[in-house]
Amino acid sequence: MRLSRYFLPILKENPREAEIISHRLMLRAGMIRQQGQGSFTMLPLGKKVLDKVCAIIREEQNRAGALEILMPTIQSAELWRESGRYDAYGKEMLRIKDRQDRELLYGPTNEEMVTEIFRSYVKSYKDLPLNLYHIQWKFRDEVRPRFGVMRGREFLMKDAYSFDIDYESAKAAYFRMFVAYLRTFTRMGLQAIPMRADTGPIGGDLSHEFIILAETGESQVFCNKDFLDLAVPGEDVDFGNDAEIAGIVAKWTAPYAATDEMHDEAAWAGVAEADRLSARGIEVGHIFHFGEKYSKPMGARVQGPDGKEHNVSMGSYGIGPTRLIAAIIEASHDEAGIIWPESVAPFDIGLINMKAGDADCDCACETLYAALTSAGKDVLYDDTDQRAGGKFATADLIGLPWQVIVGPRGVAAGEVEIKNRKTGERETAPLATVAQRFG
Ligand code: ATP
Ligand code: MG
Ligand code: MG
Ligand code: MG
Repeated sequence: MRLSRYFLPILKENPREAEIISHRLMLRAGMIRQQGQGSFTMLPLGKKVLDKVCAIIREEQNRAGALEILMPTIQSAELWRESGRYDAYGKEMLRIKDRQDRELLYGPTNEEMVTEIFRSYVKSYKDLPLNLYHIQWKFRDEVRPRFGVMRGREFLMKDAYSFDIDYESAKAAYFRMFVAYLRTFTRMGLQAIPMRADTGPIGGDLSHEFIILAETGESQVFCNKDFLDLAVPGEDVDFGNDAEIAGIVAKWTAPYAATDEMHDEAAWAGVAEADRLSARGIEVGHIFHFGEKYSKPMGARVQGPDGKEHNVSMGSYGIGPTRLIAAIIEASHDEAGIIWPESVAPFDIGLINMKAGDADCDCACETLYAALTSAGKDVLYDDTDQRAGGKFATADLIGLPWQVIVGPRGVAAGEVEIKNRKTGERETAPLATVAQRFG
């Protein structure tokens, strides 16, 4: 992509309305445009990151055996009356009426709808386990929408729903999502810690929030430092092997970790002082086993091996892709701007022409642009006539992992400079080898 053809509305000034660094940087880097309270357009650069985040989520959901669908955003109030949640949900739910005066709502979550789908088709235990997910916009009329996409009113969510014949298999489904989440966040360069979360009236211990430690986080959390050294399962993890998956979960739930609501002073006292980490955190994911909460009132039953009807045992598993973008920036930036982990970077390389209009520089850049692109790299080529200083500032701000800098002196010597955005390290490389270097 040539920057001269791109839409990258960089802001020079710090936007005053933005209280936290990720919000500031997303506005300054031209990633988002606020449209209303808690609602944002993803501009081209933001959309690219969002797509990468969603692609990782999808790959890991699929790997764990979940199947992607896409449910509508608008739901009927009737469906929510079946579960008893229509009145209970309160003011966070946006309620609307169509021209026939039918009561509708903009979905804040999809348990009812997915249960309706399930009960319409699945009648036998032989079709279980089943896990259906989608990545879809949600609307929640938050009391305090703030911090940009961190707490929006209209935001994207990956929500998965598992259906099983009994508690034991529902627990195995929960564990698979637990492990999928560990892999998902790690692949985005994040260290997410699974913390025991409130299960409300349902009880039990199968609810975890995945938390990124960050000063700007809205939750107070407590955990053992041991988490920081735990190994995340690799790509070869076998989701078909319940024992292996349960073993990973056992390791990741052994050290103490709890959110404010679940914090247990007595257990905390048992953690050695030097191992205690009491910090702020951002909830990027939440997994929850709720058993028959919806299947029972909504009649989602299957025939078991015993020939009897069983209410299916369910769980739901959420991740916030839009919030994740902000969380990644909170975890990875410096004074100059964003530092994208390679896996979610909007482009792999920023190619900087220090002297656009200079025939030799232009020619070297065109050659490099073509070579890098055919080596499979996604390149943002700054071919604009801005001054070099401005180009460097933009490149640092938008945080692409690599900068390839082409200037008249280098070109005369047959060389370019390569800068690593994260470490700041610079190396000089012969023009002819640059594409190979990234190949
Ligand atoms: P919070 O405690 O931050 O209000 P929640 O517990 O209400 O979040 P869940 O219902 O567990 O959220 O939804 C699953 C995921 O959706 C969350 O873990 C988070 O990543 C994301 N999410 C929830 N609310 C928002 C929001 N207002 N803006 C952006 N992402 C959100
Ligand atoms: Mg909430
Ligand atoms: Mg929460
Ligand atoms: Mg939650």
